[in-house]
Amino acid sequence: MPIYDITVPFRSGMPVYEGDPGIEIKAWTALAKGDSSNVSFLHFGAHTGTHVDAPAHFIEGARRIDSLALDTLIWTSPSDPGAR
Ligand SMILES: [Zn+2]
Repeated sequence: MPIYDITVPFRSGMPVYEGDPGIEIKAWTALAKGDSSNVSFLHFGAHTGTHVDAPAHFIEGARRIDSLALDTLIWTSPSDPGAR
């Protein structure tokens, strides 16, 4: 069964939902600068790029993303010949 990647690449300055924090991705440490390792600094909101909104995003006390069963995110396209 083919897998379709519908995710959006993450990059500094990519569009975000109005009012949400912007994305900042930068090198925190770098081997090229003589540091002992390459470490990236990531700063962004939880609702950035391709993601799933849990019920708790809009409903106080509702289920959060960590309580969502992963198989609910697996969708078989009806047009896929291998679909059940
Ligand atoms: Zn969201």
